[in-house]
Amino acid sequence: MKSYSNFAHIQHDLHSGVVSCHSLIEHHLSKIDAKKHLNVFLSVYEEESLLRAKEIDQKLKNGKAGKLAGLVVGLKDVLCYKNHPLQAGSKILDGFTSQFNATAVQKLIDEDAIIIGRQNCDEFAMGSSNENSAFGPVLNDIDNTRVPGGSSGGSAVAVMADMCQVSIGSDTGGSVRQPAAFCGVIGLKPTYSRVSRHGLVAYGSSFDCIGIFSKSLEDNALVLEVIAGSDEHDSTVSQTKVPHYLQELNQPEKKFRVAYMSDALHSPALQPEIKTAIENTIDQLKSRGHLVEPIEFSLNEFVLPTYYILATAEASSNLSRFDGVRYGYRSPNTTDLESMYKKSRAEGFGKEVQRRILLGTFVLSARYYDAYYNKAQKVRRLIRNQLKEVLSKYDVIIMPTTPTTAFKLGTHSDNPVEMYLADLFSVQANVAGLPAISIPSGVDKTGLPIGIQIMADDFEESKLFQFSKILSNLV
Ligand code: GLN
Repeated sequence: MKSYSNFAHIQHDLHSGVVSCHSLIEHHLSKIDAKKHLNVFLSVYEEESLLRAKEIDQKLKNGKAGKLAGLVVGLKDVLCYKNHPLQAGSKILDGFTSQFNATAVQKLIDEDAIIIGRQNCDEFAMGSSNENSAFGPVLNDIDNTRVPGGSSGGSAVAVMADMCQVSIGSDTGGSVRQPAAFCGVIGLKPTYSRVSRHGLVAYGSSFDCIGIFSKSLEDNALVLEVIAGSDEHDSTVSQTKVPHYLQELNQPEKKFRVAYMSDALHSPALQPEIKTAIENTIDQLKSRGHLVEPIEFSLNEFVLPTYYILATAEASSNLSRFDGVRYGYRSPNTTDLESMYKKSRAEGFGKEVQRRILLGTFVLSARYYDAYYNKAQKVRRLIRNQLKEVLSKYDVIIMPTTPTTAFKLGTHSDNPVEMYLADLFSVQANVAGLPAISIPSGVDKTGLPIGIQIMADDFEESKLFQFSKILSNLV
């Protein structure tokens, strides 16, 4: 079977009888099987997805199928799928099974999407290379000696290698956009609160967003349309009406006012080919009549530290629930209650997660709270205000998604700060709560994909999609 880059073509072929949901599942299962060495899936729901495919084929015949009938979806191992294992890439959740569906997952199922499996990721979504998973790293399908990015590495590779049509991941500081850039696919982080977080394993709750990996903008828009919206189980989710993203994506092209951050472009950390890709994009946009101007963003150097102070603080609090009592792993070598807590957490959590819990606990401690946590909250507000001001004058901001293309496995393993720098351009949108997307924009001289990132104002995902379409037609 051929690979589909657009779900609309699948729907067309389903209706004309060229394919069935059953044959689509068989196709993706064979892709998963052929590339097991990439370590993308932690569970594959083989029989179950084939059965469900049959059911949906029947619904299609009866004209009763939902709007995602035939869409094969993979879930990052941080999303609850009822009666299925969930581990957040961690040993501490050994043996844990979800008792309910995440709201986003439920909405997909209600529209007849088929869930094919659970995808590998960095432990508790902490990482930028997928090397922090308790189940081993995921490999990049273009070059198996390179990382796929993180933390949603499995989800990105799954779409890239046609193991599913769409993946659902989570983006707290870039975990959808960064791996999307490393794997040459589209990755969307919606506005904070656009999609319910109910049933998403919490990392940094004021940053966490469910995001979407796809090959086409149309698929991304359609899935967002389905999973976004209000939810009684998440008090932070927005009540703002969900637009018809797919319809809005297909509006006639308009001229955009585009800002780009000149300091990001001149950053010494930026790989020269990525700089060239952005410069070419800028030139082409100008020649097509869009307004493109440089802006100074004076708070740039504070974005990464602000993120790593606040996200670790929230993580230290969120992860306190994994105590050996309520979920998953309990150390067998304990003598009393205290040693059970200590040993279960020391044996259950990996190194990076422990580092972040320690960091977060430190910045929240009575003596240092004002110097770190409180100050970072204030800086976060300033960053958001400054970006909002830019977005009152421009429709979108463009910048690189990542400083480099996919690096070799092990490159930053011994140096956490170096690894954190991989998030230099992606954490901004999360600190400010703004929507952002990464779209493929050519390759570097070794053939590795480059991602361009676009950011827009709150709830302006339609603008992101429309502008991405213009950019995709340039390259
Ligand atoms: N790489 C970032 C981190 O390790 C982002 C992770 C994420 O978005 N989940 O925190």
